[in-house]
Amino acid sequence: MSDPTDDRTEIERIDKEHVFGTWSYQSEVDPTQIVDADGVRFTDAAGNDFIDFSGQLMCSNLGHAADRVSEAIADQADSVPYVAPNYTTEARARLGEKLAEVTPGDLTKTFFSTSGTEAVEAAIKIAKFYTGKDKIVSRYRSYHGATYGSISVTGDPRRLAAEPGIPGAIKAPDPYAYGSTMDPMESLEYIDEMLMLEGDTVAAVLVEPIVGSNGILVPPEEYLPRLKEIAHDHGALLICDEVMAGFGRTGEWFGSDVFGVTPDIMTMAKGLTGAYQPLGATIVTPEIAAHFEDNMLTHGHTYAGHPVACAAGLAAIETYQEENLIERASETGEYLGEQLEELADAHPSVGEARGVGLFRGLELTKHSEERVPFGEREDKVGKGSTVVDEVAAAAYENGTYVANMINTLIIAPPLTITESEIDEAIASLDAALEISD
Ligand code: PLP
Repeated sequence: MSDPTDDRTEIERIDKEHVFGTWSYQSEVDPTQIVDADGVRFTDAAGNDFIDFSGQLMCSNLGHAADRVSEAIADQADSVPYVAPNYTTEARARLGEKLAEVTPGDLTKTFFSTSGTEAVEAAIKIAKFYTGKDKIVSRYRSYHGATYGSISVTGDPRRLAAEPGIPGAIKAPDPYAYGSTMDPMESLEYIDEMLMLEGDTVAAVLVEPIVGSNGILVPPEEYLPRLKEIAHDHGALLICDEVMAGFGRTGEWFGSDVFGVTPDIMTMAKGLTGAYQPLGATIVTPEIAAHFEDNMLTHGHTYAGHPVACAAGLAAIETYQEENLIERASETGEYLGEQLEELADAHPSVGEARGVGLFRGLELTKHSEERVPFGEREDKVGKGSTVVDEVAAAAYENGTYVANMINTLIIAPPLTITESEIDEAIASLDAALEISD
């Protein structure tokens, strides 16, 4: 007998019983059934409509109505739904070519997988095979994925449950101007020293060019070019993880483009298909690609280069190009930035509004002078919600979905969002922030 006081839909009840929730105490998992999504909005089974102010997990860059991508998926599933990776399809070859075109510099050859975490796994292995070295230096405020290798190089507290993880994963400080006592450029010199002390044993330095889920941290202009020099001085590669910052979010194609840097290896997922299909990609320079001509690339997946996912990726990139979504993100992003600055001025609990393009964050603080965070580490012991969770929940009640991590609200809407949709979402946030002031 079902419980008459349970107002969940049948689907929500079945899901809760039979499907694990991610990163959660299962007793707290309470999924809402979504029945429709269109443009920048989605609708739940009770008929409530929401503005998607975070592009779900900062991945729905094209919004929820990119017909060209849906049609490409249907056409590919009709013609060749799947072939083993030792065959090719037009979708896979053309997407490889397209990625060489839109990524910075001479990045040329791609390994395809199905997610960001797998793109990072491939990057780690390629760096180790190419350099013959074992260690990876990454930073504390970072997220690189959930599988064993990628969680080991992740710096945020999600790594702790998987520790000790893979050997040779070393963490460095971050360019976090607001919340750290170390100046961003000083943190680079620290990395220089670390690499010297590690001897010639580090395969790569792995960074998000603009940190995403750990709080939208934008380094100074000179940071990434200098980091590349430091890595190369010590015989290490630079890997830029563009899984979240890539595909127009910053108003440029990639976070690396904001700083004019071409990394040795770049990882992509999320916006690569605008989240219409799961697809990861790891692109490398011609020198690294050439190494594997006569050295085996001992890596692969059944679904590496899945035709339907590649068709979605190709159609997504064509959509970014033909609808000028990257330039548009830069313009709309300016407007969004101004609105968020106004919120920061109006609410004492907003410590800092920061970001670039349509990739922005509001860091909440108890005392803006002292920079004391409202955050998981401080306020949440085991189960229960933090103040940041409560602000996000209040915005949701007001019709705006906004993701939050640690002590930051993460604002990364579809690149198709209009100024009036931004106004609507900002009004929800404005009301919700009363809770934390
Ligand atoms: N790298 C970065 C920078 C990410 O933000 C994420 C996910 O949020 C990942 C890797 C992992 O991607 P996925 O969740 O697709 O495995």
